[in-house]
Amino acid sequence: MADIIKLLPDHVANQIAAGEVVQRPASVVKELMENAIDAGASCIKLIIKDGGKTLIQVVDDGSGMSETDARLSFERHATSKISSAQDLFNLATKGFRGEALASIAAIAHVDMQTRTEANEVGTHLKIEGSKIVSQEVVATPRGTSISVKNLFFNIPARRNFLKSTQVELRHITDEFHRVALVHPNIEFHFYNNGSEIFNLPHGKHRQRIVHIFGSKMDNRLVPVSEETEVLKVSGFICKPEFSKKSRGEQFFFANNRYIKSPYLHHAVVAAFEGLIKSDTHPGYFLFLEVNPSSIDINIHPTKTEVKFDDENTLYAILRSTIKHSLGQFNVAPVLDFDHDPNLDTPYSYKEKGAVIPKVSVDSSFNPFQETAAQKGGSGRGFGKQSAKGWEDLYEGLGNQNEHNEFSSVVIESESEEQGTLYSGEDVEEHLASTFQLRRKYVVSTVKSGMLVIHQNRAHERILFEKFLGEITVKEGVSQQLLFPLELTFNKQELAVIREIQESLTNIGFVFDSLDQETVKVTGVPMMVPESGIGTVLDRLIADYMEGYSDGSISQAEMLAKALSRNLAVRTGDVLDSESQLMLVNNLFACKEPNLSPFQKITYTIISEGDIDKKFN
Ligand code: ADP
Ligand code: MG
Repeated sequence: MADIIKLLPDHVANQIAAGEVVQRPASVVKELMENAIDAGASCIKLIIKDGGKTLIQVVDDGSGMSETDARLSFERHATSKISSAQDLFNLATKGFRGEALASIAAIAHVDMQTRTEANEVGTHLKIEGSKIVSQEVVATPRGTSISVKNLFFNIPARRNFLKSTQVELRHITDEFHRVALVHPNIEFHFYNNGSEIFNLPHGKHRQRIVHIFGSKMDNRLVPVSEETEVLKVSGFICKPEFSKKSRGEQFFFANNRYIKSPYLHHAVVAAFEGLIKSDTHPGYFLFLEVNPSSIDINIHPTKTEVKFDDENTLYAILRSTIKHSLGQFNVAPVLDFDHDPNLDTPYSYKEKGAVIPKVSVDSSFNPFQETAAQKGGSGRGFGKQSAKGWEDLYEGLGNQNEHNEFSSVVIESESEEQGTLYSGEDVEEHLASTFQLRRKYVVSTVKSGMLVIHQNRAHERILFEKFLGEITVKEGVSQQLLFPLELTFNKQELAVIREIQESLTNIGFVFDSLDQETVKVTGVPMMVPESGIGTVLDRLIADYMEGYSDGSISQAEMLAKALSRNLAVRTGDVLDSESQLMLVNNLFACKEPNLSPFQKITYTIISEGDIDKKFN
């Protein structure tokens, strides 16, 4: 019989390997981000379109590659990270198999631009289905940018097998969390369809957790720390009362790598025994360090399952360490030196802007142009309107007929010799012209004396006019929720929602289904924090049912009132100086600045004469 065994051509071998390495877009995200970390990047950008089906791009500022290395990196078993089998037992990098790029390039259209510090120009490579289709010299920043388009273009069965964009995005987000959590010293940005959904500045573990999972996390975390000869543990567990019905946030990292370990998970659960209900799950973020030679991460191609040498000992140490932390937390308040006071700020438009997913699709979005994307993701509330606000103030003051009574309201620091009203750039300079009194009033000087603004009522007025405008002209801006929120309402409440649905849509709410008890919310107005959506809707419905019964005002006005009441800053909220200034600014851009929507005085001016009298 003739010989029948053949060596598979490389591109076939690569496609087969790809099946193992690349299961879905999230696998590509993981491999590219890990390569960026291995390259020593200090800032990593992840850019996704359509759940990664159209585009996955990772841009790093790491070491970059020479022309030869750039070409070689796509070969199978091409790696700079190990050179002998012995190195496998002392891995300090994420990658080592040298097959990720080869696999990805076998099943997608890959575009790489890379440059090292030593080279003045970089290399631009295009590869489709393992074939290099072009190579050029390119001017590019130091580091590497790889974009992966049309994943599985040559394997229709795999492409069809991909789940919905939402599901793929969720997998990508999970992967992003896993990588970002364990590298708080690296700055990460994550853009989905043109809008930035995560902006993670470098910091410590606690700050990273809070930036990812929201400020509510900050006071739920209990630090864990233990160092023994075989194991070093650090990180946080969530207080027992915040354990969840769903699995929630459970993260193990071993030597800076996300791992799954049902056995160690059991150790944590055992430590929580008696403190949480049996049907709930504790949250944890645990960073383990063991001797690299005592851990085998090689047993699974996607490398999340690991084998430890002495699992029983690790189990015992982990369980007792967590018990100890829980005990300490029960008897004494936890001293936490990592605590970041910025995360506590009760109210700051700036801070809130950063944690809330926003949709501002910029069709001219160019991932290489940092500023375009950053502009798109600017804050909300006053911040968004700042420039307009200043203009309005100017117009208002210019029109003596309409704004007669406010002609005296000219902010002092805008002195005559300057001759101009503020422009955007001047804002900094004027920050000092306001201050907050007893977390209740914003005080500023005006020509005729001292301006005292009631922060809550003034903000109600501003929001009232904003929402009223949006309801009528239907121009509300919506922020799309990354994960749709399901809310349960009774029949009566549902009827109200249906009744006011159009107005709610006009101001930016997006509802998915309104026929069952559970309502799916997929978008909310820019002003509404994700954590407060349920409360805001509940109060809105209650206010509406109450207010509408007397039938004296229009639906639009009713809603604008309810929204302003529920979303305005309150007495007791701290306003940073920028927000104070915006408050002053936007109040006097209102049609009726002197009264709140509930007919209460919003500001007063204490004249110089009045003050003089006090000194008589
Ligand atoms: P591995 O990471 O297992 O070594 P990969 O296929 O992921 O294999 O990458 C192959 C090689 O390409 C790496 O060893 C590294 O030298 C180089 N490389 C890949 N991505 C980058 C990057 N973002 N920056 C610098 N070098 C990179
Ligand atoms: Mg790699």
